[in-house]
Amino acid sequence: MERRWLNHYPPEIPSEVDYKEKPLFTYLEEAAKITPEKTALHFLGKELSYQELHISALRFANGLVSLGIEKGDRVAIMLPNCPQAVIAYYGILLAGGIVVQTNPLYTERELSHQLEDSGAVAIVCLDQLFSRVAAVKEETSLRHVVVTGIKDYLPFPKNVVYPFIQKKQKPYILVDVQYGGSVYAFKDLLNNSSMARIPLTIDPKEDIALLQYTGGTTGPSKGVILTHSNLAVNAKQCSIWIYKHRVGEEVVLAALPFFHVYGMTVVMNQAIMTRAKLIILPRFDAKQVLQTIHKHRPTLFPGAPTMYIALLNHPDLGKYDLSSIKACISGSAPLPLEVQQKFQGVISGNIVEGYGLTEASPVTHCNFIYGNKVKGSIGVPWPDTEAAIYSTERDEPAHVGEVGELMVRGPQVMKGYWNQPEETAAVLKDGWLMTGDMGYMDEDGYFYIVDRKKDLIIAGGYNIYPREVEEVLYEHEAVKEAVVVGVPDPYRGETVKAFVVLKENMTCTEEQLNQFCREHMAAFKVPRIYEFRAELPKTMVGKILRRVLLEEEKAKERHT
Ligand code: AMP
Repeated sequence: MERRWLNHYPPEIPSEVDYKEKPLFTYLEEAAKITPEKTALHFLGKELSYQELHISALRFANGLVSLGIEKGDRVAIMLPNCPQAVIAYYGILLAGGIVVQTNPLYTERELSHQLEDSGAVAIVCLDQLFSRVAAVKEETSLRHVVVTGIKDYLPFPKNVVYPFIQKKQKPYILVDVQYGGSVYAFKDLLNNSSMARIPLTIDPKEDIALLQYTGGTTGPSKGVILTHSNLAVNAKQCSIWIYKHRVGEEVVLAALPFFHVYGMTVVMNQAIMTRAKLIILPRFDAKQVLQTIHKHRPTLFPGAPTMYIALLNHPDLGKYDLSSIKACISGSAPLPLEVQQKFQGVISGNIVEGYGLTEASPVTHCNFIYGNKVKGSIGVPWPDTEAAIYSTERDEPAHVGEVGELMVRGPQVMKGYWNQPEETAAVLKDGWLMTGDMGYMDEDGYFYIVDRKKDLIIAGGYNIYPREVEEVLYEHEAVKEAVVVGVPDPYRGETVKAFVVLKENMTCTEEQLNQFCREHMAAFKVPRIYEFRAELPKTMVGKILRRVLLEEEKAKERHT
């Protein structure tokens, strides 16, 4: 296949890379060996060096082993960004476990599905989320819960000489009444465990490192299987792409959540691989981001368009100096041109748009950070990544400029969906991943996304699958039919709109429905707009025509 985008690659970016396949945790081990004293994590004014991070992860791994965790066991994380999220992630991998990331905003129902489906035997969660975990424990295979407070993050004071191996004690049990299982304090699990390296044989290309849940192209949440190699390769591709960054000297702002694969790869793993300093923010707050950039001078700030929009609209923007930022990669949704141009004006470097999806660890495309950026394009494929457009209408490869489904192939593409051979076969064909995104390639080999084949709504950087929201609406006793679509929103990019038909002789107000949704799903999924209708457009076989409703919304948009 002709890879015309390679003509634009600068000499510093190779088109093929020898990745020297290694387990993902090797990069933390190397960083701790090469620069032990260097700060790895900065969180709310406190710091953890690479050696401390590595030792903490090793202790956490040994703590898990003492709980009976074995190679291949699934261990979930339900944490916002904090040092414990990094320690737990690498600790699980060092114990041979498979990380299952969950979103701290999940309700019991969403959490229960994910734990049950993955078969997770343990979970690391924030103390404030414990009641949610305890409530679903019976329906899942969870055996252990490890709890941590957000500020519970510096397990070792600075400058101490660590005893090489501590005597193993029984992990401290925090609560075990009513709950019927063991609950451990994160800190005690660390302090009571050895820092010995657990003997493990990892085949990076085969062994699973992560199950990352996504609706994919069809909606129901499924676990994307990503190997050690998938994740390590994508972080490496990222560091190759931002080649002007100097290994060991950069400062990366972690405003994206680590529980989403984008923040995990482009921020966390990429930073550790390049021995950078990670400035961790527990969540995105525009003022805190501005203050942090001003004070801590990060050089790289990967984000989502809504983040850059929020910063540009902050009334105090002009008071802060953002000139330390040399590169921003914007992903997860289209980056409006105006936002790109304005944000470029407040930083010293470049902001470029990239593209990816969970099934590809996630990044496959990006614009050149130091070269020409093409308006409205997601850029070109990363090294070792092939991309093509398939005409769904003609059922053959599309011509240049013709819109079709984007397909990608490369070492970052998943092995498949966890326990879902049919779903896997529907999207993986001869190593090619069908992305469910519609787009085209121009004469120069630049790619553009124009639409989505899948029903995904992206609001404020969060993915929302209409089906999940519709299922909750259908549970309301007054609801006969419900359809959920994404409608344009100036701030969130898109927002959730629900069309509802009520059962005969039943009444229900918008507020009542809204209250019901708030109780049954994470707040970011709750519809912001409700429209009650007597009936919904349907096909001859009674399938609700979501597309028709979408077109109606688009037409309204054009007339305003
Ligand atoms: P996720 O699996 O959560 O990473 O979501 C992946 C989806 O986000 C893709 O399949 C696209 O629909 C969308 N997406 C990511 N980046 C972009 C972009 N630059 N432009 C348009 N859509 C994007």
